[in-house]
Amino acid sequence: MTRKQHPAAGGWLRLAELVFFPSFCRRCGRLLDRAGERLVCRDCWTEARPRRSTLCAVCGRMFEGEGESHVCRSCVEVRPPYTIHRSCGAYNGALKDIILLFKYRKLSVLGRGLAGIAGEAVGGDEDLWRGVDALIPVPLHPRRKRERGFNQSRVFAAELGKIMGVEVRDGALIKVRNAPPQTSLEGRERTGNVRGAYRVGKGDGIRGKVLLLVDDVYTTGATIGECSRTLLEAGAKEVRALTIARA
Ligand SMILES: [Zn+2]
Ligand SMILES: [Zn+2]
Repeated sequence: MTRKQHPAAGGWLRLAELVFFPSFCRRCGRLLDRAGERLVCRDCWTEARPRRSTLCAVCGRMFEGEGESHVCRSCVEVRPPYTIHRSCGAYNGALKDIILLFKYRKLSVLGRGLAGIAGEAVGGDEDLWRGVDALIPVPLHPRRKRERGFNQSRVFAAELGKIMGVEVRDGALIKVRNAPPQTSLEGRERTGNVRGAYRVGKGDGIRGKVLLLVDDVYTTGATIGECSRTLLEAGAKEVRALTIARA
């Protein structure tokens, strides 16, 4: 006899689970009662989905209002070391809240949803993905990683790699100097702050490769810039970058 589940069993189990182990959206507090909802409700995910906007073709800076994409003034003045950078959306509202839950509450399961958002927002961007050999998560310093327990960029990159069918090279880049958190410093200061903070790992295998750096939030671009420089100096053919959100 084949083991066939009674059609109502799934529903009853779900109901029992809701009654005895109710769980609520970690962002808005709504009861999670719909199929597949974990930690964050479907409405919050919908709200986190980025809206299209006009961008700087190089650094991905979002311009106010409609219009043709062009290169922003700061990229005209000083070309960044990476070829292009794209964020999935602006660092505010639901997207920001979910990133904070993911990063500081260590809710690594949210990495999959965020990778889904990235797939939707920038998965079809040919300029970003053409010929990419590997995803390189921006590393944390080993001490910071021990404190936090996981590297959010690595978790996000792993999920994104699955969606896009691209290999992730964790360990290709190593953080050797633990600078004070970026948020405590301002603009110009930050650039000096990360100089020489990274190096490539042993047997990195990045020579001649097209690499896509992956991080959670793009603030001044100092981290992405320094990581790009390090990879290019080590022989990478081209470095592009993708972050979940842009502050
Ligand atoms: Zn919610
Ligand atoms: Zn720009």
